Amino acid sequence: MENEPLVFELSVAKGKPHSYRKTDLKPSCPFCAPDKLTNIYQKRGAMIWLRNKFPTLRDTKQTVLIESDNHYGDLANYTVSYNRTLLRFALACFRRMQTSGDFRSVLWYKNYGPNSGGSLMHPHMQIVGLNQIDGYQNITAQNFTGITVFNQKVVEVNIATFPVQGYEEININLLELTAIDLWADWIRSGVRYLLNVMFNGHCDSYNLFFYPRQDGGICAKLIARIAAPAYFVGYKLSQVNDEKTLQDEATRLRHFFAKGSKLE
Ligand SMILES: [Zn+2]
Repeated sequence: MENEPLVFELSVAKGKPHSYRKTDLKPSCPFCAPDKLTNIYQKRGAMIWLRNKFPTLRDTKQTVLIESDNHYGDLANYTVSYNRTLLRFALACFRRMQTSGDFRSVLWYKNYGPNSGGSLMHPHMQIVGLNQIDGYQNITAQNFTGITVFNQKVVEVNIATFPVQGYEEININLLELTAIDLWADWIRSGVRYLLNVMFNGHCDSYNLFFYPRQDGGICAKLIARIAAPAYFVGYKLSQVNDEKTLQDEATRLRHFFAKGSKLE
């Protein structure tokens, strides 16, 4: 089953709430009423992992991880310690599905903002098991390499030179699981950088994808969501910014992280 598309079941999507499309966002948010949630797998404080009520993808098991009880929460505004706890919890949930043996592959990602492809503003991640499809069939190790921002052997950060989509993607590679807190801090800084500095604060949406590595580590890839380039949409051709622009971005991100670590 190579290159098979995921099938979207339109009938299941009917009735699915879309908070980004409404002016009065909060009252309709199902994640702001945790007492009414069902099919919960695991909780840690305000973090709740549960079955997705609207499983729109055929031959999959779709789960949602509610990150916080703050409707306006995000990796960018959690405290350092909350963010570390969240990523530890999310990784444990991902591992549970990954090691269950029930799926050909398991995807773990997050949408944020009106242009991210997500439907609910309330902060959440998604962990999705694919029964038949290898969700990583189009991804290669090269997609996680690039111009070095930071390298301490246990955590390596770079600006991708072989982005999945383009033009710029921040790779945050966890190479030793013991360094998960440092990795979480880099993800938090990366998100803050993307929303506040990368496009002079004009980008309001991102995706964060997590990919399991063969050696047991995890690669996190942060992608700013602006309109997808036509070359990618029509030809599956990725584009990347020129070397000098990538170098400048790497330098700016390195300084941003250094400044943030001193503040907190
Ligand atoms: Zn909410």
